[in-house]
Amino acid sequence: DNRTIAAEQKPEDAPELSLRPLALTEFIGQQKLRENLAVFIQAARSRGEALDHALFYGPPGLGKTTLAQIVARELGVGFRATSGPVIVRAGDLAALLTNLQPRDVLFIDEIHRLSPAVEEILYPAMEDFQLDLIIGEGPAARSVRIDLPKFTLVGATTRLGLITTPLRERFGIPLRLNFYNAAELEEIVRRGAGLLNFDLTSEGAGEIARRSRGTPRVAGRLLRRVRDFAAVAKTGRVDAKLADEALNRLEVDKLGLDAMDRRYLRAIADDYGGGPVGVETLAAALSEQRDTIEDAIEPFLIQQGLLQRSPRGRLLTLNGYRHLGMTPSKATEA
Ligand code: ADP
Repeated sequence: DNRTIAAEQKPEDAPELSLRPLALTEFIGQQKLRENLAVFIQAARSRGEALDHALFYGPPGLGKTTLAQIVARELGVGFRATSGPVIVRAGDLAALLTNLQPRDVLFIDEIHRLSPAVEEILYPAMEDFQLDLIIGEGPAARSVRIDLPKFTLVGATTRLGLITTPLRERFGIPLRLNFYNAAELEEIVRRGAGLLNFDLTSEGAGEIARRSRGTPRVAGRLLRRVRDFAAVAKTGRVDAKLADEALNRLEVDKLGLDAMDRRYLRAIADDYGGGPVGVETLAAALSEQRDTIEDAIEPFLIQQGLLQRSPRGRLLTLNGYRHLGMTPSKATEA
């Protein structure tokens, strides 16, 4: 998947790490979440205790990993990061847990992808800070109990619905991240331009912000692509017109949709009469992973009122048709 706009992390995003805010006060947007988190962090700090386990959920690229790092920093504790699919065996998790210092933050990205066996040993670790391990096999097997330091688990997921209830219930602090509005994204783009020494007018920043799919990761990526165009064209200061030209060449439209988004909407309109059509059918028709469609494509289209989810499948809305420049035969008002 090589969408410029793809919300998932890619290796080329490494330079973007330099744009990562390091403190809660530098973190733009998600105001309510930020305020709540600040209170919980301050309370944990003043008690000298580990912060309660926290779960960040929401579409990719909205700042879950960034926030987890900020939490550790603001608590003044160590930060270890891993992800659900990486922890294959119970022993992998045990190794991570037994190496933690008191009050450390252990970050598990894509926590909905933990295997049941690993989840099983995570429960007592989260609840009682104890690890129950089976050593040996067959009749000689015995279980040992290891005390763990009190730590904070920060989990991140794009799909709250895929987390098992027992795991979800063990997070004292569940926090949802939402798409960012244009003003917030403009601030993020301006901050990024400043850090990259990129001469961008505020109208130019606004243009990139409006077309960033509500997602800071996309904003950072578009910012760097626009800067590339400006560098090659040898233009100094980049205004809204230049930003617009660059974004058009990247096939990012006025709403921030890219070619993949439009292909998805068009498939529903052209091939399935506007829906309802099941996500599996769409995944096959588009040769895309169902997960990619549900995590990285649909949430924004739904938020923009172009798409609706119904029990019988996906439906294009009237706005969805309009955005494609089509007149619907039948469509639901968003
Ligand atoms: P997630 O873990 O939700 O996929 P990340 O935390 O990796 O998202 O964020 C993606 C990128 O977006 C980060 O590298 C960071 O530069 C930027 N970013 C995210 N949230 C913010 C924010 N609120 N303010 C500024 N930049 C942000």
